[in-house]
Formats: sequence, structure tokens, C-alpha cells
Amino acid sequence: MFELLSEPRKDPILSLSAAYKDDPRTNKLDLGIGVYRNNDGITPVMAAVKAAEQYLLENQPSKAYVGLAGDEIFNEAITHLLLAGTEAEHRAIALQTPGASGALRMLADLIRQTKPDTTVWISDPGYVNHRPIMEAAGLKVRSYPYFDPNTKTLNEAAMLAQFAQLGPDDILLLHGCCHNPTGVDLEFSHWQQIASMSQKQGFLPFIDIAYQGFGDGLEQDLKGLQHVVDQVEEVLITTSCSKNFGLYRERTGAAVLVAKDKQTASKARSRMFEIVRANYTMPPDHGSAIVAHILTTPELKQQWLQELNTMLTRIKGLRTSLRTQFQAKTGEDRFAFFEHHKGMFSVTGLSTEQINRLREEFGIYIVGDSRVNVAGMQEQAIPYLIDSFLAVGA
Ligand code: PMP
Repeated sequence: MFELLSEPRKDPILSLSAAYKDDPRTNKLDLGIGVYRNNDGITPVMAAVKAAEQYLLENQPSKAYVGLAGDEIFNEAITHLLLAGTEAEHRAIALQTPGASGALRMLADLIRQTKPDTTVWISDPGYVNHRPIMEAAGLKVRSYPYFDPNTKTLNEAAMLAQFAQLGPDDILLLHGCCHNPTGVDLEFSHWQQIASMSQKQGFLPFIDIAYQGFGDGLEQDLKGLQHVVDQVEEVLITTSCSKNFGLYRERTGAAVLVAKDKQTASKARSRMFEIVRANYTMPPDHGSAIVAHILTTPELKQQWLQELNTMLTRIKGLRTSLRTQFQAKTGEDRFAFFEHHKGMFSVTGLSTEQINRLREEFGIYIVGDSRVNVAGMQEQAIPYLIDSFLAVGA
């Protein structure tokens, strides 16, 4: 039967990682997959996470099933992490999911069950998995302009013009911070405009925040999201602990639904249980148990905040180094965008030919859309990176 299947599409990021692994060159650089690395090229387990794991090892009484909602202490803590200080926190519910990916799919299924004709609007360019997930749930997907490749900044006018056309049958999927792949974030004024457009035009904001703490800081990265939830009656949120807790493989995230009142939110949550039940029954426990323990233990929370801040400082430092070292080499400020962009990634605007040459001649691996993972670079590799970029005419 399976010979009937057509050839599968290759995942562009995972196949790049495989090619990098097979490359024998010692000066090779992997700027592909989105993981944070320290200056030794390692994605470490955070010390706060190790301490929480130690605690769980010694104190977890059972491995029996938890329940459809996952860990309720985690759900409460993650809602508080996102919505503390907002009025919306009191009309929100959260459900632990297998990563933000699981949350995206679960909310997509919920949208499809609630209003099958909904169109989900995603950014162009955008996160590679937004479209497949929304389409797999049977939703229509269209894209809005987001990025100007010439200036490497927001294509503000075109984006807002598209938003002005949205109505009650539309859902606007936004990146809460640290836009993947471009690194270009919305200004607070854009969030204000989006909130008032949503109120007037009736479209529903859906905010995917996978990098909270990697842009300007844990609370600063929420400014736009928190404004929207306080202004708009209904908002969907997906969040991830992959990056800011370094729990990538533990598949830890949440879906948060803000409704007009708690009763409506709770009804939606019961429908979400049905979706979970028909899908994976309940999310994996280990990652959420770690996060719940960290967020409810003041000393561990403090330690985690410090470690998160170290990662943020490193990313910002790399961004500044890229700009200043390019400047020193070329006498030009063409690469200022590295410093202006936020989070792990930047879209560089390199052509396919330049990307291929960087891989073949210099062992530098970059995804086909010219996205580079700044958060995976090592300070000592920057001079080689710059020489290679300039050698291919960047
Ligand atoms: N949303 C965005 C924008 C992402 O970049 C990612 C990948 N890091 C995810 C969601 C999914 O993250 P995860 O499933 O690992 O939590």
C-alpha cells in the first residue's frame, strides 16, 4: 500500500543539519537549526533545570498519568508568566502541550471546529511550520507582507494595508517577539494599531511567542502581547519553553486562550480536552514539571532568570560584534541590521548562489531563505564568517 505514497518533501533545516554533520572540515559553521549555543558551541542544560531535575528525581512520588490538561501548576505558572499584571489573566485558561508546535496544532483544530471557514493570516516570510500546521487542521492560510529584503526592516505600509482588509472571518497570526526567520519585530505602536483594528474590524489576534526573554528581556518582550490581551476580547496565544528554559527535546509549551469571560474560556478548554484526547491524550510531564518547580521556587526562579539573562546578553553581544567587525572590515555600515534585529535569527538577504558558495567553499551552513542563527555563533568564528561573507560578495 505504501508504494502509493508520493515522495516526501525534505525538511530544509533538518536536511541542512545532516549535511553539516557529514562535513569533515574543522572550521565549518552551522548557522542553520534554531538552537542557542554557548561560546564553546554547546547547548547546555541550564543549572536551574538540572537542580529541578534533581529535585524531581528525589521527590516525584509517581509516574502515573497526570491528566488531559497536563500539570495544572505549570498551566497556572505559565499563564502568570505571560499575563501577570493584565486584566486578561482573569479570563484566560491554559493547557500544557507538547511544545508550542503542539499548541499551534491544538488551537488550529479548535478554530476549525468553531468556525471552519476561518482564514489564518501568516507573515511572509514566516516560521516554516505555521502554514503546514494550519493547513493540516483544514484551515485556509494566506500571508501578509512583513519584511523588506532591501532594508532588512519591516515592510510597514504593506503589512498595515493588508491588516486593514481583515474582518471577522480572519485570524491574524503574529510572532510575539524575536520574529522567526527575519529578526524584525513589531514596534509597540504597531501592537496598538493591531489592537484597535481588531476591535473595529473583528479579526482575532493569535500570538505565537516562542522566544520570550531572547529579545529585550522577559517582561519587555511581552509589551505588545499584553497590550493586545487587555484591549481585545478574544486572543489566542502559543508559548514555548524550548528556548528560554533550554528544554527543546522535552517538548514543553502551552496554549493559552483569552475569552470575553472565564466561563467562555472554560467551555473552550473543555473542547480543547476533546482535541487532546483524540490526539495524544496527554502531554509529556518531565519538562513541565521542571518549569513548574522552577517558577514556584523563588531561589530557582532567580537562578533561571540570571541564566536567561546571560543568554540574552550573549546574543546581543554577538549582534553588536557582527555589526562592528563588518564595519571595521568594510568601512561601511551595511550590516547594521544584525544589531537592530532581535532574538536568535536574522535574514541576511544572501542569494541562493551566495548561500551555496558559503556551504561548498567555506563550510558555512545557512538555510535557503538566508536566515542565520546568530544565537548559535561563537565569538571567535566571527572574523572567518565575515571574510567568507565578503568573499562571496555579500
Ligand atoms: N513558533 C515559532 C515561531 C518557532 O520558531 C518555533 C520553533 N522554535 C515554534 C513555534 C515551535 O517550538 P516548540 O515546538 O519547540 O516549542
